[in-house]
Amino acid sequence: MTTENPLLFASTEAFGLPAFGALKAEHYRPAFAAAMAENLAEIACIADDPAPPDFENTIAALERSGRLLARVGGVFWNLAATDTTPELQEIERDISGALARHENEILLNAALFSRVDALHARRDALALTEEQARVLELTHKRFLRAGAELDETAKRRMAEISERLANLTTSFAQNVLADEADYLLLLEESDLDGLSEDFRASAAQVAQERGAPGKYGVTLARSSVEIFLQSSTRRDLRETAFRAWASRGETGGATDNRALIAEILRLREERARLNGFANFAAYKLDDTMAKTPTAVRELLDRVWAPALAAAKAERDDLQALAERDGANVAIGAADWRHYAERVRKERYDLDQAELRPYFQLDQMIAAAFHVAKRLFGLSFVEVEGLDLYHPSVRAFDVRDAKGEHVALFLGDYFARPSKRGGAWMSEFRGQENLDERIRPIIVNVLNFSRAPDGAPTLLSLDDARTLFHEFGHALHGMLSDVTYPLVAGTNVARDFVELPSQLYEHWLLEPEILRGFARHAETGAPMPEELLERIQKSRHFNQGFASVEFCASAYVDLDLHESAIDESFNALRFERESLARISMPEEIIMRHRTPHFTHVFAGDGYSAGYYSYLWAETLDADAYEAFLEAGDPFAPDIAERLRRHIYAAGGTQDPADAYVAFRGRMPNVDALLRQRGFAR
Ligand SMILES: [Zn+2]
Repeated sequence: MTTENPLLFASTEAFGLPAFGALKAEHYRPAFAAAMAENLAEIACIADDPAPPDFENTIAALERSGRLLARVGGVFWNLAATDTTPELQEIERDISGALARHENEILLNAALFSRVDALHARRDALALTEEQARVLELTHKRFLRAGAELDETAKRRMAEISERLANLTTSFAQNVLADEADYLLLLEESDLDGLSEDFRASAAQVAQERGAPGKYGVTLARSSVEIFLQSSTRRDLRETAFRAWASRGETGGATDNRALIAEILRLREERARLNGFANFAAYKLDDTMAKTPTAVRELLDRVWAPALAAAKAERDDLQALAERDGANVAIGAADWRHYAERVRKERYDLDQAELRPYFQLDQMIAAAFHVAKRLFGLSFVEVEGLDLYHPSVRAFDVRDAKGEHVALFLGDYFARPSKRGGAWMSEFRGQENLDERIRPIIVNVLNFSRAPDGAPTLLSLDDARTLFHEFGHALHGMLSDVTYPLVAGTNVARDFVELPSQLYEHWLLEPEILRGFARHAETGAPMPEELLERIQKSRHFNQGFASVEFCASAYVDLDLHESAIDESFNALRFERESLARISMPEEIIMRHRTPHFTHVFAGDGYSAGYYSYLWAETLDADAYEAFLEAGDPFAPDIAERLRRHIYAAGGTQDPADAYVAFRGRMPNVDALLRQRGFAR
C-alpha cells in the first residue's frame, strides 16, 4: 500500500502544499521508516564514496540528503502541534526516540566524520564562497559537539549520558506539572475580598470540578495564582498561595526535584568535559552569539545595577501606597503584585476592557502586512479554495515589489482543543537555492479565542504584540535567500533568533500604525490620542521588578552550569548563595526558582541559555534606534540593510558580523536600558 502514501511523493498541489486531504494517521509510521532508511542509504553513499572528499561530494551532498525525512517531519510535527489526535500523540512518543537514534547514527558515523574533518582541516585551500565556508564550519561543529571525535568508550558514555538526561529531564517536567495539578487553595465566601466577578466564577468552577461545590479554588497555574496575588486583599491568603507557588518542585515527596537537579548538573558537566570544555556553560555557549559565560555576565551586570535601583524605587512607591492605606505592612514577595497592580491603575488609568475594541484581529493582521510592505515591499494576497489542514487556516500568496512569488504564508489564528497552547512560527517547507529556487511555506500559529457569530475577534494589547512577534519570525523564514538549507531562515544561534521577532514588535506601537489600524470595532473611530499617550506612558511601569526577577534567574542558571557539582551539592543552598552574591532584594524572588526552572531542567533548550531573551533585546532595542535616529520608522535605506543582513541572511554569517553589517557597529546596551526605562 506504500504506493498510495501521499507523504512519499513530491507534491502536485498548488504552491507545493502537502496533500492534506489525502493524509491519514496510518501514513506517518511507514513514511518515517522509509524516509529514515532512504536517508541512511544516502549517508552510506557519501561516507563510502571512493573519491577523495571535496565540498561537493561531502558537504553539499549532506545538504541534499534527508529531504524526504524533512518533508515527512515538516507535515507531522506541524500537525502534531496544531491538529493533534490520540493516534498522532502515540506516534509522537515513539518517533522522538527513533529520530534521536537516527541522528546519532549519522553524527557518530566515523567514515563520514573523517571526510568532514579532512575538508575542515584544509578549508582555506578549498576556494569556498563565504556561505560554503560557513556551512562547512557549522557542519564540522555539529559533528564535534555530538562527540564524533571521541574514542569508542567516550562515545558510548556520551550516548548513555544523553539517554539518562532524557529520562531525568522528562521526570523533572512531570514533577512540576504534578505539583501544580495537586495543589488547590480552597476559599470560603468570606475570603473573596478584592476578587473580580470573572475570577470568582472561574474559581467556583475549579472548586466544583475538584469536588468542593460551593467553594472557590485557586490553582498554581500562572493565570490563576498571579491574578489572585494581584487582586486579593487578604494578606494571609496571598502568603499561603505564594508560598505554594514558590516551592513547586521542593515539597519533599515523590515529586521533589532536588536530587534530579544534582544528577542532571553532574551529567551535563561530564558531557562538557568529555568534549574538552571546562564546564557545561562554556560548552553550551560555544555555538551562540554570546560565545562565553563572561560575555553573558557582562550583559547581566550592566542591566543588574539599574534594575536594582529601579526596583527599589518601585518598592518605595508600593510601600507608600500601603501606608496611605493604613496597612501596617512591610512589602514582601507575596505583596508585590497586589500593590503594583493598584499603583498601575492609579497612575496610568489603563483598563484592558477599554483597549480591546481597538485591537481587531483582522485589522492587526492587516497592520502587520502593512509594516512588511513599508519595510520590505511585500504584498499579501489571500488565496481561497486551497486544501489546508483545518478550515479556519488562511493562506496568503506573498510577493515582492517586482511581483515575484516570495512565500506562501499560512495564518492559523484560533484556539481549538486539538492545538497546543502558546504561539509560534514554523515551516512546512524551508527555503533553499541549491539545485533550484525553492520558496518557503511558513505558518504562524496563535491561540486567540474566536468571537461568536461572525463578530470581529478582539485582542488585548499583549495579543497584538504576540501577533507582531510571530510575524517577525515568519518574515525571517519568508525573506530567507540563501543557497544551503542548513543556514536558511531561522537556522541561527539561539540568542540571535529572537532579534527579527522582538524587533518587529516595535512597529505595533508606531503612531502611524495605531492611527491607521487601531480602529474601534463598532464605531470605526481611530484610537483617541490621549489613550495612545497613556499606552506609551505606561511602558516602563514595574520594569525594575521584571528585570530583577528575570536577571536573577539568568544569573543562577549560569552559576549552576559553571560550577563543579560534587556530592555535597544542595540546590537550595546553592541558589541562596548565588542570590546573596548579587544582593537580591528580599521582596522579589527569581522568576523561576531552581526546583521548578523548566526552561533549564525540563530539557536542554535553555540550559545556560535563559539569558537569551535579554541578549536579543540588546539587539532589537539598538536596531530599532537606527530607525529613530533617521527620524523615519520606515527609512528605506535602513530597511534594505535590515532585509539583506538580518531577515534574508539566515545563518550565512556569524551573527555578530551580520549585525555589524546592518548597523555598522556592535549593539550598545544603552538602547536596552532606555527601552526598559533605566536611562541615565
Ligand atoms: Zn519568539
